[in-house]
Amino acid sequence: MLKESTLAVAAALHRAVVPAGDYWLHEVKTGQTFRIVDVDGNQAADTLFYNAGDPFERYSATDTIRAQANVYLGVGSKLLSTDGNVMATITADTVGRHDTLGGACATESNTVRYALEKKTMHACRDSYLLALAEHDHFGLTKRDIGHNINFFMNVPITEDGGLTFADGVSGPGKYVEMVAAMDLLVLISNCPQLNNPCNAYNPTPIELLIWGEGA
Ligand SMILES: [Zn+2]
Repeated sequence: MLKESTLAVAAALHRAVVPAGDYWLHEVKTGQTFRIVDVDGNQAADTLFYNAGDPFERYSATDTIRAQANVYLGVGSKLLSTDGNVMATITADTVGRHDTLGGACATESNTVRYALEKKTMHACRDSYLLALAEHDHFGLTKRDIGHNINFFMNVPITEDGGLTFADGVSGPGKYVEMVAAMDLLVLISNCPQLNNPCNAYNPTPIELLIWGEGA
């Protein structure tokens, strides 16, 4: 189901454009609305969520998939934590497909999926590690990189249960929006992946916006 937001961009408290290959780490408070915009289309925003007050509690793909009985995310989806609490609810979505299963790219997976010589190329896992190292006051390390959501990614499940990467269903200016149900720490790697045909080998920027509670 597609649903547009009624929020005005001009009323946002926070706006940031993140180029492909860069990361964004920011708090989103309880009740605030958070939007990720696919600026040029078919980008992948690999997103991790932590409870800002206790980052050991974080987004759980398995709990989220089980609770909503659906592997894809859309309007009405509740993102559940490892403690079974709702972290955020998706309230607007102009894309209609977001992946919970594909995981974030890593230099290791790039060698398996593409070619050995891709090992030295940028990957989302490295962006996460850099973000945590540059913000070490959170006390998060390599072992805290858990399940992520690939917003805007289309990873269909085949009839025999496999995963495939398909052409993106997103497009320029499409977005997903959610309301935080707890104080969140949100870490996004804007994917630098140059080897996946789903983005036409052209990673592009994303934009993040936050509106105040009750917006
Ligand atoms: Zn990636």
